Amino acid sequence: MVFAATALTLYPEMFPGPLGFSLAGRGLREGRWTLETVQIRDFATDKHRSVDDTPAGGGAGMVLRADVLAAACDSVGYDRPMLAMSPRGRPLTQARVRELAAGPGVSILCGRFEGFDERLFEGRPIEAVSIGDYVLSGGEMAALVLLDACVRLLPGVMGAASSGDEESFESGLLEYPQFTRPVEWEGRTIPEVLRSGDHARIAAWRRQMAETDTRLRRPDLWERHTGVRVSLPLARGDEDWDEQT
Ligand code: SAH
Repeated sequence: MVFAATALTLYPEMFPGPLGFSLAGRGLREGRWTLETVQIRDFATDKHRSVDDTPAGGGAGMVLRADVLAAACDSVGYDRPMLAMSPRGRPLTQARVRELAAGPGVSILCGRFEGFDERLFEGRPIEAVSIGDYVLSGGEMAALVLLDACVRLLPGVMGAASSGDEESFESGLLEYPQFTRPVEWEGRTIPEVLRSGDHARIAAWRRQMAETDTRLRRPDLWERHTGVRVSLPLARGDEDWDEQT
């Protein structure tokens, strides 16, 4: 079963866009995932082919019509999860990305203007998904973000590079910091422990750094991970590595 993606959009030319490059692009060319686009405008019914109208109750901008969107979604069907990108949606998580990547694929409705007529979500099995607490001008880039996150998990797309388990969020923590040669750069050296060849010590150091950085940078994640509320951010350096290990 190949992961099948369909983007419903007013701008099909935006796909695959960045997903045509690097590992995702190679995966696409190798048939490890597929991508189709559906032009929402093809489902407009009036002679002007309009997909939007002014907001009920007044206000700025235009709202995408439920009837046109529903017809576009119905044409794709609901065998795969149908997502609609929206800042009002459920925040995307790595856990949800894993679930989606393990499934048959995904259909993604991309908004524009002021977004969707809310009745769409009552009348069709569509899940609104947000990629973060900021507002984009359209759902296409949000859809590309979601797809990129899914596609990199597919078998054969990243190969050995995608070890997965230790990456940020996989364990509920941020990943530990990474370093590479040169050993010294502008007077800063790679932490000694990473050059020690002592795998147990390296693993312990990485675990500690992942915890410290998560606690410091993302108290929200830390709280979820440990069930412990962080009141004051703790600075790195509270732990002395060479003494502890
Ligand atoms: N008026 C809307 C924003 C519309 S932005 C509101 O305030 O909620 C236009 C489109 O961009 C949306 O329909 C959605 O498809 C996309 N979009 C914007 N921000 C997004 C986000 N954080 N996550 C996912 N999609 C987003």
